[in-house]
Amino acid sequence: MINILFAAHPSRWPLYAPHLRRALDETGLDYTLSDDMAPETADYVIYSPNSPLRDFTPFTRAKLVQNIWAGVEEITGNETLTQPLARMVDPGLTAGMVEWVSGHVMRYHLGMDRHIVNPGHDWAPHTPPLAPQRRVAVLGLGALGSAVCVQLVALGFQVTGWARRAKALKGVRCQHGADGLNVALQDAEILVTLLPDTPDTAGIINAKTLSLMPKGAFVINPGRGPLIEDSALIAALDTGQIAGATLDVFQTEPLPEDDPYWSHPKVTVTPHIAAETRPETASAVIADNILRGEAGKPFRHLVDRAAGY
Ligand code: NDP
Repeated sequence: MINILFAAHPSRWPLYAPHLRRALDETGLDYTLSDDMAPETADYVIYSPNSPLRDFTPFTRAKLVQNIWAGVEEITGNETLTQPLARMVDPGLTAGMVEWVSGHVMRYHLGMDRHIVNPGHDWAPHTPPLAPQRRVAVLGLGALGSAVCVQLVALGFQVTGWARRAKALKGVRCQHGADGLNVALQDAEILVTLLPDTPDTAGIINAKTLSLMPKGAFVINPGRGPLIEDSALIAALDTGQIAGATLDVFQTEPLPEDDPYWSHPKVTVTPHIAAETRPETASAVIADNILRGEAGKPFRHLVDRAAGY
């Protein structure tokens, strides 16, 4: 019998419990699943950083802490967490991110705002280029960034991707390292940032990197707020270097009422909704990782604590 503790935010328990039970039943494992058990009896801990659980010291026999979020920046620094930590890679989450990014890229590519917000009723025909004439750069080629690239390539865009290490993705001009970032930005008429929040990525979008982009480019950030130096982005928006930005994530969330992003005419704020883990599909991912643990196989999607993601 293995004991699985659901220790993510309590509001998630009723949403996850039926899907987790279904997925765990399919593994054939003999298990107990509960949102309440003595820490020293838990073999697996399903977790989210907004959980009340902070001290992992009593979880002496836990083989894995499985995060239900993709982002792990709020846990990697927790020194009580000595157990292996897996982040979430969920087909439902990925599909949501692909849809959200595709929609916002298409908005800027087609210049939709010109017609959606048209108080003067201007009849001003303007033909946008087709996707093969539009260059999009995606920073971060992980589970989400690579799936976004595949979709943007399928739509016909010229796509450049950038990651820490060298990558190969069909139809994508892949770059890495500091020089690769410059190459990716120089071409980026639309920039999508899907990097994790780590000490190395903090402030990667700053006055210098924004100035490398073509004048009038667009920024779409569903990654994490600290990727962007906010004052530099606002300055670039004010000079026209950047023509518009859609931001889903912020240094402080919820975005404070007096934050200049709310009222900036070139900024669209969305409330951290780009993509959410879907209990239906994520439960199978969690069950599979537990099954792997019981079979003595390596866990999937383990976080590299030194790299921070
Ligand atoms: P992954 O860990 O799969 O991918 C991260 C990517 O970023 C990798 O390609 C990695 O490079 C690259 N990277 C990391 N550090 C650097 C660096 N210093 N320089 C260059 N590239 C770097 O993460 P996911 O794709 O699953 O998720 C990405 C982020 O999206 C999450 O961390 C989270 O912050 C955000 N997110 C936002 C959501 C929302 O609703 N707004 C929902 C879910 C996630 P390499 O491939 O070489 O390792």
